[in-house]
Amino acid sequence: MSRDAKYDILFEPVKIGPVTAPNRFFQVPHCNTLGHGRPRAEAANRRVKAEGGWGVVCTQEVEIHPSAELTPFIEGRIWDDRDIPQHRLMTDAVHEYGALAGIELAYNGRHVPNHYSRIAPMSPSAVVVHGDHPIQARAMSKRDIADLRRWHVDAAKRSRQAGYDIVYVYAGHNMSILQHFLKPQYNRRSDEYGGSLENRLRLTREILIDVKEAVGDQCAIAFRFAVDELQGADGIQAECEGRDVVAMLAEIPDLWDVNISGWDNDSASARFEPNEGYQEPYTAFVKTLTSKPVVGVGRFTSADAMVSQIRRGVLDFIGAARPSIADPFLPKKIDEGRIEDIRECIGCNICVAQDNLAAPIRCTQNPTQGEEWKQGWHPERIDAALSDDAVLVVGAGPAGLECALQLANRGYAVSLAEAREVLGGRVSLESQLPGMASYARVRDYRETQLRRKQNVDIYLQNRLSAAAIVELEIPHVLVACGSHWRRDGCGRQHAFAIDGIENITLLTPDDVLDDAEIRGRVLIYDDDHYYMGSSIAERCRNQGHEVCLLTPESKASIWTTYTLEQEKIQSRLLGLGVEIITSHKMIKLEAGNASITSVYSQDHRRDIAFDTIIMVTSRQSDDSLYQDLLAHQHQFKTLRTIGDCHAPGTVAAAVYDGHSAARSLESAEDPYAVLFRREMPLLD
Ligand code: ADP
Ligand code: SF4
Repeated sequence: MSRDAKYDILFEPVKIGPVTAPNRFFQVPHCNTLGHGRPRAEAANRRVKAEGGWGVVCTQEVEIHPSAELTPFIEGRIWDDRDIPQHRLMTDAVHEYGALAGIELAYNGRHVPNHYSRIAPMSPSAVVVHGDHPIQARAMSKRDIADLRRWHVDAAKRSRQAGYDIVYVYAGHNMSILQHFLKPQYNRRSDEYGGSLENRLRLTREILIDVKEAVGDQCAIAFRFAVDELQGADGIQAECEGRDVVAMLAEIPDLWDVNISGWDNDSASARFEPNEGYQEPYTAFVKTLTSKPVVGVGRFTSADAMVSQIRRGVLDFIGAARPSIADPFLPKKIDEGRIEDIRECIGCNICVAQDNLAAPIRCTQNPTQGEEWKQGWHPERIDAALSDDAVLVVGAGPAGLECALQLANRGYAVSLAEAREVLGGRVSLESQLPGMASYARVRDYRETQLRRKQNVDIYLQNRLSAAAIVELEIPHVLVACGSHWRRDGCGRQHAFAIDGIENITLLTPDDVLDDAEIRGRVLIYDDDHYYMGSSIAERCRNQGHEVCLLTPESKASIWTTYTLEQEKIQSRLLGLGVEIITSHKMIKLEAGNASITSVYSQDHRRDIAFDTIIMVTSRQSDDSLYQDLLAHQHQFKTLRTIGDCHAPGTVAAAVYDGHSAARSLESAEDPYAVLFRREMPLLD
C-alpha cells in the first residue's frame, strides 16, 4: 500500500534555520524519566520514533546546571562535557533514520527545590519554590543573570558537540526561569529585567541571541513558549502579552514551538479536552506574526486533522508527545497508507503520571513504551511462534485483546472467547462514563487488527466453563476474565468489611455500568481514588441526582494528581453541585444511613442519609475459572491468568500483562531475568 496523495503535504521537507527536517512530523520535547540515569534506554526510546518516521525527535527537559536540577525526577542533564557521550547515544540513534535531533535546554529556577545539589534555587525575585517544599528561591543578582546566559551558551556548545541539530530555549509550562521572568508574580525587579514587558523579556531575548551566536551556524534555535496560561488576566494571555512576546521576538528564533501552560493544560487529558487540535484557538495567531516555522501540539492522531492544520496555515509542523508515545510509527503508517493501523492515544495521561511518579514512561496503548532497551521490545515487531500449537484466550478485555493480538502477530492459531456480546471488557463499559469515551480506542484498535487476521477465531457470547475448556484440548490457555468491585467495603482504608455492610442494599461500579437503578440522594464512597468514583458522581449528577462523594483522602480522586486531572475533577464536581466530603471514612452502615468519622479523630462523627449508596473501594480477581482449571493442569502446556484476573490494576497494566504473556509464551527464559538488565553506574 502507498499513501493517499492528500497526505503528501505532511511529508514535505521543511527548512529550520541551517537544518532541514525531512517531513512535518515533530516529536516535541517530552519527559520519559529514562534520561541521564538510563541513557541507553533513553536512546532506544527515541530511536524507535525516528525509525517510525518522525522527522524531528527531541529530548526531554535537559538540565544545564546543578543550580536547577530536577531530583527526584530523572530527565536529561548536560552540566559538563562528561554528559556529552550519553547524548551521542541519542543523536546517533535518531540520525540513523535521517531524522533531526533536538535538545530542550532547561533552567527551572523556582520550579525546583534542588534536592540533590542543595544550592538555593534562583528566581527573578525572592519567592517560594513550586509545590509544598519548605524552601524559598533567592533573587538573582546581575552576576547570576550573566552566569545564566553563559550556562546557556556552554550547554548549547555541548549540544552541538553531542550532535544535536536543534537547540531549544525554553519558556513554557511554568517550569522555566525565562517564563518566570515574564510573570510579574515572580518578577518584581526594578532594574532593566523587571517592570515593562520589554524588560521582562530582555533575558529571553539575550539568551536567544547568545545561543544563536554560539551555535546558530550549525544548529537551528527553537523557542518553546506558552502563549497562554489559561488564567485570564492573572497570567499570560494569547490576546495580550502572549501575542506581544511573539511579535517582539518574531524573527529571532529559527522555530517557534508554541503551546499553553501549565502542563495540565498542554497535556490536557481526554476527559477535559476530548477533541484533537484543542490548542488551536490559542496558538493559531503565531504564524501571522512570524515567517519562521511553527510547531504546535493538540493530541493529533488523525492524518486529515493534521493536513487541515497545515493547509489552513495554523502550523508548519505537527507536534506530538503523546501520539508519538502511543504510536511511534504513526508517520510511517500514514506514509504507507495504513491509517487503520494507527494506535491512537486515548488521552489517559498514564504516561504523564509515570513522570510525576519519577518512574520510567509507560503507555496504556503502547505497552512497549519504555521497554525498548530493558526488554528489547519493539512496537511493531515480535518474535515468531515457537511451535504450531493452538492458544485459547478466555476474556476479551484489554488484557485478552492485547494478548490475542500479539499471539496472532507471532503466528499462533488463536481462539478468543468472550462471555459478552461485545469485545473490550471493562473499557467497553467504562467508556460510557462521562469523559471516558476515548478508552474505547483500546478496544477499537485491537478489534480492527484481530478481525483482519486469518489465524484468529473470535467467539462472542461464549462464557466458557472449565469442563468446556478441557474438552477443547488446546495446549495453551490464558485466562483473562477480569475482576469485579468488592461489596464489603474493603479497600485502602478498610482491611475488613465495614460494620453493617452485609445488611444493606448497595451498588458497586459494576452495577452502575450494568445500568442498575439509581434512586434519590446518592452517596458514593470512594476509597479507590482514581477516576471511577468521580466519574460515577458526574454521571449521577448529570442524571439529576443529589450526589455526595465521600473519601478518606484529602481530595477527590487524589491519584489523578499524577495524571494532571485532580484539580479539574474537583472543580468540575463542585461546579455540578456535587457535595465533596474529604478525610472521612465510614464506620457503620444501616439502611439509608452511613455513620462517618474523620480519619484523624474518632471524635468527629456524623451521619449521612442516602437513598442509593455506591461503594468504589477495591476489586477482586475473577479467577474462579482458573482455579477450576488447576485441577486439570497436567493437560496444559500453559495455564495462567493475565490482566485484572491476575491482579486488578490500571488498563495500562492489563494491556502490558497481556502483551508480556504473548511475548513470553513457550519461552524457556527466566521471566524475572529482564529485571536484571540494568544500566550500571561507571565506578570511576
Ligand atoms: P482485563 O482488564 O484484565 O482485560 P476485563 O474485566 O476488562 O479484564 O475483561 C475481562 C473479560 O472477560 C470480560 O469482558 C468478561 O466478560 C470476560 N469473561 C469473564 N469470564 C469469562 C468466561 N468464563 N468466558 C469468556 N469470557 C469471560
Ligand atoms: Fe496517550 Fe495514555 Fe499512552 Fe499517554 S499513556 S500516550 S495519554 S494512551
